[in-house]
Amino acid sequence: MPWPGAAAPPTETAPSGIGAAPAYCAEMERTISGFHKDDAGDWVAELSCGHGQHIRHKPPFQLAPWVLDDAERADRVGSALDCPLCERDE
Ligand SMILES: [Zn+2]
Repeated sequence: MPWPGAAAPPTETAPSGIGAAPAYCAEMERTISGFHKDDAGDWVAELSCGHGQHIRHKPPFQLAPWVLDDAERADRVGSALDCPLCERDE
């Protein structure tokens, strides 16, 4: 019995460059390394890039009730958060 279709379909021919996106590309996700309160009493998430990001619970505009809770804040440490400062390259 002859081998049908001698030419196997080409595989693993992804063009070079795919999967090699630069680190600064895509979303600027940083890791939350901790929290502190600023002088106004607002919570600031400390990000792995060194930036801080205010997390305010001011309904109905900003809803972040978790930030007021010690345990819920601790839960967020180590999770990812977009850093708009890095996105703007500041
Ligand atoms: Zn940043």
